[in-house]
This record gives sequence, structure tokens and C-alpha cells, in this order.
Amino acid sequence: MIDYPTILDEIYLSLKSAVHRGTVASYIPELGKVNGKKFGIHLLTVSGDEYGVGDYKESFSIQSISKVLALTKALNFVGTELWKRVDVEPSGDPFNFLSLLEMERGIPRNPLINAGALVVSDILVSHFTNPKQDFLAFVRELAEDDTICYDEEVAKSEKQTGYRNAAAANLLKSFNNIYNDVDEVLDFYFYQCSISMNCKQLSRTFYNYANGGKGMSGKVFIAPSQAKRINAIMLTCGFYDEAGEFAFEVGLPGKSGVGGGIVALHPGNYCISVWSPGLNKKGNSLLGMQALEMFTTKTGISIF
Ligand code: GLU
Repeated sequence: MIDYPTILDEIYLSLKSAVHRGTVASYIPELGKVNGKKFGIHLLTVSGDEYGVGDYKESFSIQSISKVLALTKALNFVGTELWKRVDVEPSGDPFNFLSLLEMERGIPRNPLINAGALVVSDILVSHFTNPKQDFLAFVRELAEDDTICYDEEVAKSEKQTGYRNAAAANLLKSFNNIYNDVDEVLDFYFYQCSISMNCKQLSRTFYNYANGGKGMSGKVFIAPSQAKRINAIMLTCGFYDEAGEFAFEVGLPGKSGVGGGIVALHPGNYCISVWSPGLNKKGNSLLGMQALEMFTTKTGISIF
């Protein structure tokens, strides 16, 4: 029997006063205001045991982590048709690189880079009745928590500065891989990224991917075969151009965001969320990566 609380306490104590904590993202001005000293971890096992340390109850901007949730809902809507518009290859490029696998066809390399996420946003805008409200309702259902909200200030801040995302969306539109109005898709995308959660809510939201697509109360969000595929995409594409390093150091499927959050999971076993706003050079939470490396090393449980 693994003593998870003791392991999390040890990790927290050894990292909480770290001097090198990375740099808080500032290209979205609102994110630059966050206190870089924050650090929290939350673990939720598939059997429902949970344990948190540090600032695990404090909300932060989940940013790109939301791309996994958007992908899930888009798969609910269009199933495998989605893969005609987005590929599943790691990009090896930063998140905001205009990574299109085949320039002639305008197909983004995967759904977790911005170009791919914009196509997924387009699918959601096409299928939801009230895209922003309906997406938030879906996320609340996944998390079983009605308090989860968009952060209007973060969404506005990103809208004012999101030139590269606007460029990517326009490029995709020129390839006919965005069907709706570009501004509407961008607005939806910026709101999606602005969702605020704490580590506990994040672990709960991602519980279903550790549990074959079933949420904590047994609701089926996605078929086991699709949960498998989403986990594979998280493993190969979830960490920008550092997915290889994350698999090497940590050995779990997961997703990071420039708000400093990382969620990772072991199918059939647990889901773990970490938040520390300082990012390394590749845009992943510096302490978050270290904490997760220590966690899979100390517990001996990774997918490898
Ligand atoms: N909303 C951010 C952007 O598109 C997401 C970045 C991220 O977390 O990777 O720039």
C-alpha cells in the first residue's frame, strides 16, 4: 500500500522554498499578475481517495489544459470525422507555432497545439447552441462542480494581445478548415482558455480519463477507446516541444498550460494536479515538472 499523503508532503516540503521557480507567463498581461510563489498539489485516486498540499484550493487559469476538454466534447459531437481536420502527430514546436502538418491542406499537427485547438473550437462553435455557456456547462458536469467559471479579465486580456492566434485562425480559414466566423471562433477559444480551476477541481475534471471515460458518479463522458486515444494524445502532444522530456522524466499522459498548471494521470490508478506559475523555457511549470518527476519516482507508478 503506497503512502500517498507522506509522499506528497515530502515533495511539497522539498520544493516549496525552491529559489529557481521559472518565469511567470506575461504575454497575456493578466497572467503576469499572478504570484510566482504559489505552489499546490492534489491527488485523486480512481477509488476516490484524495489528498492536497499547499495552494491546492486556489484557482488559476487552466489555459491550454482546456484543450483536452474541448477535444473531448468535439469527439462527442463529430466522432472520428474530427481526424479529417486535425492530425495526431507531436509537433516538436512551441504552442503558438503555426504548426500545420501539410501546408497544402491546412491540417494542424494535433489538437493540443493552438492551430489544432482552433479547429476544435470551430467544431464546438458549429455544434453548441450557446457555445460559451454550453462549454462551461460541460466542464462543470465533468468536474461535478457548478462553481467553475471563466475569468473574464484573462479572456479580455488575451483577446487584446492574441495576434498569433488570430493569424493561425485566419490561415486555417484560408484553407477552409475554419467554417465559422474567425472572430467568433477566436472569442470562444479565448474564453475556453480563461477557465479558472484549483488543483482539486482539475483532478476531478480529469478523473474520467483515468477511469476509462467514466466520471466520479459513474456518468460516461467518453467511450473507453476514446479515453485511450485522448490519453495517447496527451502523452505525445501535451507538453509543447517538451512532450518527450515529460514522458522521459515523469512517464504519464498529461497536459500543461501557461498558467502554470499541469494535470497528469495513470489510467486505472490516479489523477494528479500541480500548480506553480513559474514556467521553464519550454512553457511548462518548472516546479510542476519536478514535483511530478519526484512523484512517479517515489511511488514507482508510471505507465512505463
Ligand atoms: N491561451 C493561450 C494561448 O493561446 C494558451 C497557451 C497555453 O496554455 O499553452 O496563447
